[in-house]
Amino acid sequence: MPAAVRFVAEEKLLSCVHCGLCHSACPTYLELGTEADSPRGRIHLLRGLEEGRFAPTPEVVRHLDLCLGCRSCETACPSGVPYGQLIEAARPWLEGHRPARARALRRALGRALTTRWLRAVAFAPARLVAGRRWLARLGSLGAYAAALPRGGHAPLPAVLEPEGVPRGSVALITGCVADTLFGATNHATAALLRRAGLRVLVPPAQGCCGALPLHLGDRGRAAALAGELARTLAATGADFVVTNAAGCGALVREWGHLLPGDPMAADVAARTRDALELLAQLGLPPAPRRIEAAIAVHDPCHLAHGQGVRAEVRTLLAAVPGVRLVDLEESDICCGSAGTYNLTEPAMAARLLARKLEHVAASGASIVAAANPGCLLQMRAGAIARGLAVAVEHPLDLLARAHGVG
Ligand code: SF4
Ligand code: SF4
Repeated sequence: MPAAVRFVAEEKLLSCVHCGLCHSACPTYLELGTEADSPRGRIHLLRGLEEGRFAPTPEVVRHLDLCLGCRSCETACPSGVPYGQLIEAARPWLEGHRPARARALRRALGRALTTRWLRAVAFAPARLVAGRRWLARLGSLGAYAAALPRGGHAPLPAVLEPEGVPRGSVALITGCVADTLFGATNHATAALLRRAGLRVLVPPAQGCCGALPLHLGDRGRAAALAGELARTLAATGADFVVTNAAGCGALVREWGHLLPGDPMAADVAARTRDALELLAQLGLPPAPRRIEAAIAVHDPCHLAHGQGVRAEVRTLLAAVPGVRLVDLEESDICCGSAGTYNLTEPAMAARLLARKLEHVAASGASIVAAANPGCLLQMRAGAIARGLAVAVEHPLDLLARAHGVG
């Protein structure tokens, strides 16, 4: 009999009443149809591990690894089961039950993505050939390179003054992978925030918020990086902290779980908003330029399920002259990107991407708006590989274009 273990408060596991109402919201259950790959099945496994009824066999770890951490089940659950917290708490423990080589590779991936110079080195070859569509013929890694934006961007200045009447200040989280690959979106975000009357502060020495290492089960590194970024952001004294990456926003807003008892992290968390949410709240002046397009909105998991932000994206885009919003079936079902999931679980990520793109094709959209760098890259790569005539854009880039600042 394996030893009992405690990685999460028992009452959180016990809050599941086994109703199964979350099944139809779970991407892996939709694809596989197996109970062990559903939220309820995974909660059963987690409970069994805690109570020592199950051992962390490769099969058990496999079912838990296949979870995207998308939190779609949380939205569906009528009992308020905090599923994201359950799987996050279990992941560091699961790391200890992997073969040493797999563990080392995952650790190295987390380090490479969250260390500025390592990231620059890792992405340098892809940046050289970024945007060349023929690369998609070389397989999925080639498709990701083809999906990368071309050209680099100068870092944002430390302070950008507001346009018009000042309405407060924001500290902008520029992200780690997002800053390396999607610098233009950070510029677009800052320009729109200025247009909304906000003074934008951009701390130059920013690191990762902790989301990527946490996803890979490295809670120690995640907490260290989060604590460092919390201090950097708190030092700005800004009224709001803003991000344009849904995955970062969802974690920063819940830093209290990662950094319990850290008042500075709690304070930053309470001030954090997604850029689209804040812009919708404050309002933008009328956009002077038209975008003639049918736009489908993909809801990134960590924006819709992690932060409850959905309508704001549609409201802002619908206000742009020429835009026609079209429905996207399963708009809030994961595209398979999910942090590092498309690297660690490429087969399931590819199935979910194919599912997403079928819905995109059926929507008749010429543009898909996706407010998260990971989703952008994943869906762009998939669209290029399939020859789908659809552009995948961050809604902030679209808005910046409509406002003549992007
Ligand atoms: S987090 Fe997503 S993949 Fe994991 S159990 Fe919940 S719905 Fe399924
Ligand atoms: S997680 Fe929620 S919706 Fe899913 S089985 Fe448990 S109680 Fe029901």
